[in-house]
Amino acid sequence: MSDRANTPDVRNPDGSLTIRMKRACNGCGQYVGDADDRDVDEHGNLTDVRAECSHCRPLVELEAAGCQTWHLTPRSIGRIDDAIDRDGRYAKGYWEDVNGKLTVTGLRLGSGPDRIVAKFGDWVIRHLDGTWAVHKAPDSAS
Ligand SMILES: [Zn+2]
Repeated sequence: MSDRANTPDVRNPDGSLTIRMKRACNGCGQYVGDADDRDVDEHGNLTDVRAECSHCRPLVELEAAGCQTWHLTPRSIGRIDDAIDRDGRYAKGYWEDVNGKLTVTGLRLGSGPDRIVAKFGDWVIRHLDGTWAVHKAPDSAS
């Protein structure tokens, strides 16, 4: 799918390691291959490479079809919560015990047995038919 090079690390005879800098997916943080010129636009901003990522490509396809997506982070949770509220759905922070302290670790959508939980790092999707879903972050991402 991608023509991006993915140069393996090389262990040199003196024990040192030669690496090529890698580009991480802006959707999930997994490496998509060697960093190159396409990773920065003319303004110096990192480009969107989610279509090159096997984990995130479905999100890009959903967006192309008109679905809305949000990357759930501590900074975006309020904006996503508002969007869900405007949609007439119930949402609230998802709390868990983290090292003995009750902490918000994500967002709970809906209530009862149909509720879904998105954790920080996951993507929240509003499909065209008005249903909501969660695209989980890959296990390797944190
Ligand atoms: Zn990705």
